[in-house]
Amino acid sequence: MTSLNYLLLTPGPLTTSHSVKEAMLFDSCTWDDDYNLGVVEKIRQQLTQLATASEDYTSVLLQGSGSYAVEAVLGSALGPQDKVLIVSNGAYGARMAEMANLMGIAHHVYDCGETALPDIHKIESLLDTDAAITHIAMVHSETTTGILNPIEEVGQLAKRYGRTYIVDAMSSFGGIPMDIAELNIDYLISSANKCIQGVPGFAFVIARTVKLAECAGRSRSLSLDLYAQWKCMEEHHGKWRFTSPTHTVLAFAQALKELAEEGGVAARHQRYQNNQRKLVAGMRELGFKTLLDDELHSPIITAFLAPEGPQYRFKEFYERLKQQAFVIYPGKVSQSNCFRIGNIGEVYEADITALLAAVQNAMYWNK
Ligand SMILES: *Cc1c(COP(=O)(O)O)cnc(C)c1O
Repeated sequence: MTSLNYLLLTPGPLTTSHSVKEAMLFDSCTWDDDYNLGVVEKIRQQLTQLATASEDYTSVLLQGSGSYAVEAVLGSALGPQDKVLIVSNGAYGARMAEMANLMGIAHHVYDCGETALPDIHKIESLLDTDAAITHIAMVHSETTTGILNPIEEVGQLAKRYGRTYIVDAMSSFGGIPMDIAELNIDYLISSANKCIQGVPGFAFVIARTVKLAECAGRSRSLSLDLYAQWKCMEEHHGKWRFTSPTHTVLAFAQALKELAEEGGVAARHQRYQNNQRKLVAGMRELGFKTLLDDELHSPIITAFLAPEGPQYRFKEFYERLKQQAFVIYPGKVSQSNCFRIGNIGEVYEADITALLAAVQNAMYWNK
């Protein structure tokens, strides 16, 4: 274990502020009003307000990492007769298909490859030809590559065809402005340790209340029953069904406060975008190429192609950066050799400047 405190340039958990970590220095009682009413209920309200100006939505917090909430939504929102169209261009879309498969949920996967956007006409023709499809599920910012999917266009289709629309906005919610009512989203999923900049431990779902209210008794799992979790929180004013991640929740409340202090989602988006543009420009100057074209890109994370030549090893590059207090992320794309650099979290322009100098230092294959 090194004592060196490094900057996480990863898609979460990410580098959090000192004050977010400090908020965890308190032991809450899960029966106490200070915690349930004072913290949990407030978070639920704030999340709904962050997601939309509409009054038609509610939010549910759920123990576990982001995937738990994705699984809870698929397992609770789809009835036994329902079928979901999963639009996929990366590992997180593929994970939704894996979940549907495991839970015995009827599904069709439209996989458009890892470096392309889904074709809206293709989705439309799938909806035309397969009347059994009742739900559409898609990832917004596909963290595998950093690609940003067209949630608005797909939302318009969902509305036109009267289909329930599920969006995994894990790595974009809080970092990219959106109004989920305008986007026709019925279920939006994200987690504590991404763009809100909290610590890991729970995920959350912002759902159209009338849709969620129809989900009683549907869940394929006890712990991942989104409806039951919601009912408990509603009826007992912020009470979680099972042990809640109290320290993580306190950190999250502080993280939401800091998001507001920064100027809200628009200001955070601006910072991430500046980080990402500066990163890409600097990396290109050093000779690196991005996996994706600029117009496909989210401001969240960037996949770079591994340098050519026999000398480069990710692990060696990684270690050399870590020695300089920067932690990057391996690639996840199946077709190309990549590494990834995230720029969400407590990461500012000066950090990117310092990172670029560290990268130049670490390019051992070039020397
Ligand atoms: C992080 C992430 C998830 C959830 O991953 P966990 O490891 O379960 O937290 C899901 N989808 C996307 C797009 C993500 O970036």
